[in-house]
Amino acid sequence: MNSNEIEIHKELKKYFGFSQFKGLQEQVITSILGKTNTFVIMPTGGGKSLCYQLPALIQDGTAIVVSPLIALMKNQVDAIRSLSSENGIAHVLNSSLTKTEIAQVKKDITSGLTKLLYVAPESLTKEEYVAFLQSVPISFVAIDEAHCISEWGHDFRPEYRNLKNIIKQLGQVPIIGLTATATPKVQEDILKNLDMSDANTFKASFNRPNLYYEVRTKTKNIESDIIRFIKQHKGKSGIIYCLSRKKVESIAEVLQVNGISAVPYHAGLDAKTRAKHQDMFLMEDVDVVVATIAFGMGIDKPDVRFVIHHDIPKSLESYYQETGRAGRDGGEGHCLAYYSYKDVEKLEKFMSGKPVAEQEIGFALLQEVVAYAETSMSRRKFLLHYFGEEFDSETGEGADMDDNVRNPKTKVEAKDQAVK
Ligand code: ADP
Ligand code: MG
Repeated sequence: MNSNEIEIHKELKKYFGFSQFKGLQEQVITSILGKTNTFVIMPTGGGKSLCYQLPALIQDGTAIVVSPLIALMKNQVDAIRSLSSENGIAHVLNSSLTKTEIAQVKKDITSGLTKLLYVAPESLTKEEYVAFLQSVPISFVAIDEAHCISEWGHDFRPEYRNLKNIIKQLGQVPIIGLTATATPKVQEDILKNLDMSDANTFKASFNRPNLYYEVRTKTKNIESDIIRFIKQHKGKSGIIYCLSRKKVESIAEVLQVNGISAVPYHAGLDAKTRAKHQDMFLMEDVDVVVATIAFGMGIDKPDVRFVIHHDIPKSLESYYQETGRAGRDGGEGHCLAYYSYKDVEKLEKFMSGKPVAEQEIGFALLQEVVAYAETSMSRRKFLLHYFGEEFDSETGEGADMDDNVRNPKTKVEAKDQAVK
């Protein structure tokens, strides 16, 4: 190790208590410390936050962190503050602050105390804030959840499109973009919109070798099929995703009637019930949560053993995120999706009310899901290819962990399915 490497290892230990970097963290941090634009693509849980938090803490000036969710920002600020004796080391700047609070934030930044300033993208459009930030030293700008910049991502935020213009007004500051979205289209969009084709790019593998991928044709017997599956995984934790709230309620009920401990979760339930059901799942008072996609953001239960999609998801990106909640601990994770072409048509119908450009993107994303469901090749290879990653379906890690590889379809069968 050279002296710089020793230095950042020491800081890692000092601030975070970790003795080793995870994955590509060290390379990313070295790139940022070198004042170069940097682009980080790592799956959820990969440790992206530390990639900008550590360089922010050890450099002069304040790092601006753009993040789309107030709740996420608050969490991170609390976490950073707990590492230090100074509350002012990290702040959030948003519209909910009082005049006095804003004055305090400005004072802490000016005095050099504040190392991380979290802002929502819409706050950055305020002229008053921009003028202030122009007058203080900025170490770099980190853009978390950078896929929000792209219409091809799952969470497009128009305000993200203005970021580059605002950052330009701050002078020559390096940008670091971070995302867990691995599709090449989204990546291109990010680099283009942030005008950083020169960025050092770091991409971690998205392969999850302990997840088993399976697709079953959806039939009238889906409910008894799901019940049988769950009974084969007795006492294990699992999530069942459904498209509609009504379906969530009815499946949860069917499971309960059949002696499976399950609760529903969707945005139509009041906040108290939602929190209660989520806690019951985390505390293992129930085995199964039946949910819409409203469930899962920030859920960190390590031993989810299966994720079932009662209905196909709207993109492979969503599918990867949702199934990614299984097997976080590295243990078994069975990802089972039920597929029928009728569901595709249903989703297309949902989209038909949307603006044309959005529809086109929606259809294209859906076609990839159809192709995944109908493929007879290695599902892992298919998924990873979608994320721009080559996977060797003979020797790669987890190569035999899907239905197509374990039970190859004969050519006739495969063709027969495609015709259906
Ligand atoms: P991401 O934003 O990529 O989803 P996070 O930044 O939230 O991931 O980090 C995920 C988890 O990994 C956190 O609990 C964090 O404390 C942990 N973590 C990050 N870096 C390290 C490390 N070097 N050693 C051990 N744990 C780490
Ligand atoms: Mg993150």
